[in-house]
Amino acid sequence: MGIAENINQIQHRIAQAAHRSGRDPSAITLIAVSKTVGLEAVEKALAAGLNHFGENRTQELKYKHSHFPAVYWHMIGRLQTNKAKDVVGKAVLIHSLDRWSLAEELDRRGALLQTPVHTLLQVSLAGEEQKAGVLTTDIEQFLQSVGQLKWLQIRGLMTMAPLSEDSEKSRPFFKELHEIYRCYKRRTYQNVEMHHLSMGMSQDFEVAIEEGATMIRVGTALFGE
Ligand SMILES: *Cc1c(COP(=O)(O)O)cnc(C)c1O
Repeated sequence: MGIAENINQIQHRIAQAAHRSGRDPSAITLIAVSKTVGLEAVEKALAAGLNHFGENRTQELKYKHSHFPAVYWHMIGRLQTNKAKDVVGKAVLIHSLDRWSLAEELDRRGALLQTPVHTLLQVSLAGEEQKAGVLTTDIEQFLQSVGQLKWLQIRGLMTMAPLSEDSEKSRPFFKELHEIYRCYKRRTYQNVEMHHLSMGMSQDFEVAIEEGATMIRVGTALFGE
């Protein structure tokens, strides 16, 4: 199947998952993860109506951004501190804020460009294998500290469930992150607004939607292996 057909099918599945859980499909943003494909595939997806794209490497994000500067680019992969400068001003949202030193560097880079830096706090949930992200017990301290910064903004939470063939295995992780999101949405911290909940990939995006995701990050189901 071609990219346009894949997009149609995924949008249909998004709508169905939304309806199953009494949600409005327009509240869910599909981020096309283009990390394994080239400019041509991005162009096809653009022509088919997508405008949010995700990359996990700064070089690739810079390269594709230079060709398609009007697209909403999302940085979704681990960000090295010395590469932070490459995405500030280019990525509309950095999903992978996973440590305080990165927050400080992104803030510094935002100051240099006089531009707010929108991020999601990546959360590492108990029982996760890949351990990237802030532990649930450290979230509150992190959100409080963000008030000391000027340009860094937190706009929600992101997580990656452990990889599994069985999408139901992701459900408890997504449920837990949604609970955390709801809890912090009710509180007030400077420079923090809980708008986005980024969770769900090709394997488990329907489960993520049922559990409240507002952004899903889909690569292989759109572009192929
Ligand atoms: C690659 C990647 C995705 C997309 O994964 P697929 O299984 O190809 O849909 C989503 N999120 C992150 C952080 C990724 O690195």
